[in-house]
Amino acid sequence: MKKYSWEEFARLMGVEPQVLENKEARLLKKFVDEITWPTHCNYCQGLDLSNPNPVHHPSYELTPACNHDCIFCYSNVAVKLGKAPKPGYYGWDNPKAITVSQYGEPLLSPRIVEVNKMLRERFPEARLDLQTNGSLLTRELWEKLDFDIVMISLDAATREKHKMITNADTFDAVVNALRIVGEDKSVVSAVRTIFMPGINDEDIPKIAELAASLGIDEMFLQPLTIHELNVERLRKAGLDFERAESVREFLKVAMEAKKYIDVRISGCLLVQLKQMDPLTLFSVRRVAREVAPLVKRSKLEL
Ligand code: SF4
Repeated sequence: MKKYSWEEFARLMGVEPQVLENKEARLLKKFVDEITWPTHCNYCQGLDLSNPNPVHHPSYELTPACNHDCIFCYSNVAVKLGKAPKPGYYGWDNPKAITVSQYGEPLLSPRIVEVNKMLRERFPEARLDLQTNGSLLTRELWEKLDFDIVMISLDAATREKHKMITNADTFDAVVNALRIVGEDKSVVSAVRTIFMPGINDEDIPKIAELAASLGIDEMFLQPLTIHELNVERLRKAGLDFERAESVREFLKVAMEAKKYIDVRISGCLLVQLKQMDPLTLFSVRRVAREVAPLVKRSKLEL
């Protein structure tokens, strides 16, 4: 007996088969398959889908204070709720990577150089990652620091927009910091950018272009997590809450930025997206709301 394909069978029955076709969905899938996560995410438990309760890299917290006051910041929220960690090391023995810091602006602390040295001596095998808003980084300070990865936050491509987002007139200083680390080829440098549709979608490809021109290696693009205490500020700034939850919108802007720089998206999100088929990627939404940011690692006296 002749075997029919389902299309042939449908035609025999007088029905013209339609293949569910979505070109954009296929492009999203291809993009997700091709990219990787930021270098910073290597060794993070968030990459392991079989871990039901992953925690972030160990961190050394220097201060919860910051000279910026960003409209989306979880660290500010933690300070307001009295949940910001006290200074110290939050991690375990034999860490693969340590972030300085997850909260506040580490370069505000006069102890930054001393703590950097202490971590190198105490954990010679560990990768040391600096996470900073960049506004206080000078060439003089850079000479005294010793990190493997430097991530500098920048969410706007103009001075005015930067001021609106950070409440600080520090755009030029941040660009200068990108230049300083971009020139230093002994470190991996990243510009860290949060996707805030309605506020900075058009800035993101421009930030990518600017950072690439300054020698920055990667763009670490993150989706926005909306903390309850920041909702009003984000609304006033023009956030499109609907699009902030859309994976498709996030990936579209990442694809734009990729024209200029090696764009990477948060590892813990990317490993999940890589599991999805094109149409799921096209339509899936992520929960972007959270009440209180907490450190899930215990403090260890060094
Ligand atoms: S973005 Fe996710 S995977 Fe990357 S370091 Fe942070 S928690 Fe880990």
